[in-house]
Amino acid sequence: MPGVAVVGTQWGDEGKGKVVDLLAPGFHTVVRFGGGHNAGHTVVADGRKLVLHLLPSAVLHPGVRSVIGNGCVVDPEACLAELDEVEAAGLDPGARLLFSERAHCILDVHREVEALEESLRGKGEIGTTRRGIGPAYEDKAGRRGVRLADLRDRDQRDGRLAHLMAVRGRLLGWSRERQCEEARAAGALLDRFAERVLPLIGDASLAITGALAAGHAVLFEGAQAALLDIDHGSYPFVTSSSAVAAGAAVGSGVGPAAVGRVLGVAKAYQTRVGGGPMPTEMTEADNARVVRRGNEYGASTGRPRRCGWFDAVVLRYSRRVHGLDELAITKLDVLDGFSRIRVAVRYRLDGESVSEFPADPEAIGRCRPEYRTFSGWRRPTGGVTRMEDLPREARVYLDALEELTGVPITLASTGPDRLASIRRGPSRIFP
Ligand code: GDP
Repeated sequence: MPGVAVVGTQWGDEGKGKVVDLLAPGFHTVVRFGGGHNAGHTVVADGRKLVLHLLPSAVLHPGVRSVIGNGCVVDPEACLAELDEVEAAGLDPGARLLFSERAHCILDVHREVEALEESLRGKGEIGTTRRGIGPAYEDKAGRRGVRLADLRDRDQRDGRLAHLMAVRGRLLGWSRERQCEEARAAGALLDRFAERVLPLIGDASLAITGALAAGHAVLFEGAQAALLDIDHGSYPFVTSSSAVAAGAAVGSGVGPAAVGRVLGVAKAYQTRVGGGPMPTEMTEADNARVVRRGNEYGASTGRPRRCGWFDAVVLRYSRRVHGLDELAITKLDVLDGFSRIRVAVRYRLDGESVSEFPADPEAIGRCRPEYRTFSGWRRPTGGVTRMEDLPREARVYLDALEELTGVPITLASTGPDRLASIRRGPSRIFP
């Protein structure tokens, strides 16, 4: 098994962190291939909770190499803080961490641009984390970004900063003096960042390809999810990078075949943060209950998440755009105690029955789910580790999700801890 990509299949926060954490010990290298410090993976290991925003969850595993791929954007300040936190937890990530020299930097100016744009959108706000990630990707596409490679040459870096501040400063209404001041401040921050990180910057593509050539297993850790993907997500309520499995190749510098098998992660229900339509959104009472039981608050923003019933239309779409081979269903335990559980199998849209996820956000907003209703279970599932110990209704529910999505479910998760996991059926990904 050369490569495996672990990707989100809904609107993010599916619990990819836990699944990657579970798989990581069997891998030589774990690569983050997209996004910035908005990802917010929460990992609980040995009772210790660590929230990682940029660094791969694998930094928790001594002996596994962690790579920040070229598809990522790196906020120097946030990255330094995260390295401190991981070190405070008694780990030394430095020795096993590699940053792609082709990854781009997020700077203060990007946060300013994002705040301006969100305020101009008014009611149509995307609900971003306002961490400057979108504008950093804009500058990458605009060919005026500052890359980690630029940290090696101060003159080259300062030239890039001057141009970036001139273009963005005009949009922000900055004077010439302010532009120079901002460029100087950014330079000083990058100097401080370089002091610590420069030895960890290199050709990530070369390292990953080398590992694969030597027969080592490589895991590509996705951030966000299919419905947040810049191309395939519910545009414009999306992130600014590729979150689909194919993005693993682009964002790491390997060929598509190297990505290998694709594991999708889905909650037993679904959640969404920020704006945009979600057809299976729950009633206020059900939503409040899932938020409470599932601790559904954004790991990065602290905002309560919007909760919805499992949407098989979304999952079938995800299967297609990711090319899913297997599925891990997380947070089954959060549904404990519901008397009935619903799953959307199709939508009604303007009087017609539709089974494919629409591209137009207005149309998504008009979709009314056609539900199949399942009996809930009374016995708690939290911490269960064997299929036969699950209540019959929970097993029926998993069987139905497999049938409705058309993807084999090979793992069910019943709690935040690594050990609270059930293997199910044959898998070419899980041991
Ligand atoms: P990610 O970005 O996809 O990794 O997801 P998050 O870390 O934002 O959200 C997942 C949250 O759910 C974390 O707090 C996990 O510890 C927690 N979690 C993961 N799997 C389970 C599970 O099966 N049951 C429960 N109750 N919590 C889980």
